Amino acid sequence: MKIAFIGLGNMGGGMAANLVKAGHEVHAFDLANEALDRAAEHGCSTFGTAGEAVQGVDAVVSMLPNGQIVLSAYTAEVFGNAPAGAILLDCSTIDVATAREVADQAHKAGYEMVDAPVSGGIAAANGGTLTFMVGGSDSAFQRAEPILQAMGKAVIHAGAAGNGQAAKICNNMLLGISMIGTCEAFAMAQKLGLDPQTFYDISSVSSGQCWSMTSYCPVPGVGPTSPADNDYQGGFAAGLMLKDLRLAMEAAETADAPVPMGQRARALYEDFVGAGNGTVDFSGIIRTLK
Ligand code: NAD
Repeated sequence: MKIAFIGLGNMGGGMAANLVKAGHEVHAFDLANEALDRAAEHGCSTFGTAGEAVQGVDAVVSMLPNGQIVLSAYTAEVFGNAPAGAILLDCSTIDVATAREVADQAHKAGYEMVDAPVSGGIAAANGGTLTFMVGGSDSAFQRAEPILQAMGKAVIHAGAAGNGQAAKICNNMLLGISMIGTCEAFAMAQKLGLDPQTFYDISSVSSGQCWSMTSYCPVPGVGPTSPADNDYQGGFAAGLMLKDLRLAMEAAETADAPVPMGQRARALYEDFVGAGNGTVDFSGIIRTLK
């Protein structure tokens, strides 16, 4: 298949390389020359504009920073330049409303489109082990699924357009809340005289157990290896968690959904990132509770 890939940064670079490994011909475009050079090293052909990259392709995949950039890339470059039968897949994390608007405009321009945001970071993008949560019609999902399978370990249909983004931000809101709760419990346990390993041994098999504790423990030396064991480097940056919490709060307001814990998590990550910790792993927020 000929696939155009727009946005070959930390995530997109590895994803495009996995499409090449799966035997696809990948037409790459990014505003940054370094990203294009890396894409060429991984076997992609590179183009000077997105409009040129999408010509003659069967599918377009994008992995871009935010909703405004996604909207303008599709309306200004993809629609009209990509062949009418091409399937469009936006894998960026963006707000639900813009995802639905881009999909709507795609349909009006004669394309099928899915929003397919990912769970998993740069290592999963490089290793082809991402999880995709996909919003779009049944027929769009069926066409997108084999392309996404080449970049991930799980591809789940979440419903109509925008539902992939809805699943992503609801999941990450829960993750932000549960990480802060886990940090609070460990910090308080220690102040009450409990050894962190002993608290882990008890809570990890009791009703307080959660992923933030047993797969990503914020305390160094406790539980499986996690960014806490690497001075809170190299995991999921607090700045990206804040981006997702802001998107979740926007969506909650639009849907009139009460999210008091989500709001508190957003405020705590605003403070943490504002204090210069944007690139620190999100579990590093435990340091503010010591
Ligand atoms: P990044 O900044 O490394 O990459 C984005 C790329 O898009 C850059 O190379 C940039 O030059 C390019 N770009 C920007 N505007 C463009 C345009 N108009 N046309 C073409 N290229 C353009 O970001 P990333 O970490 O790869 O994240 C991409 C998306 O994936 C974001 O939506 C992010 O929220 C999401 N995400 C990231 C992670 C992570 O761990 N990094 C995890 C899950 C989801």
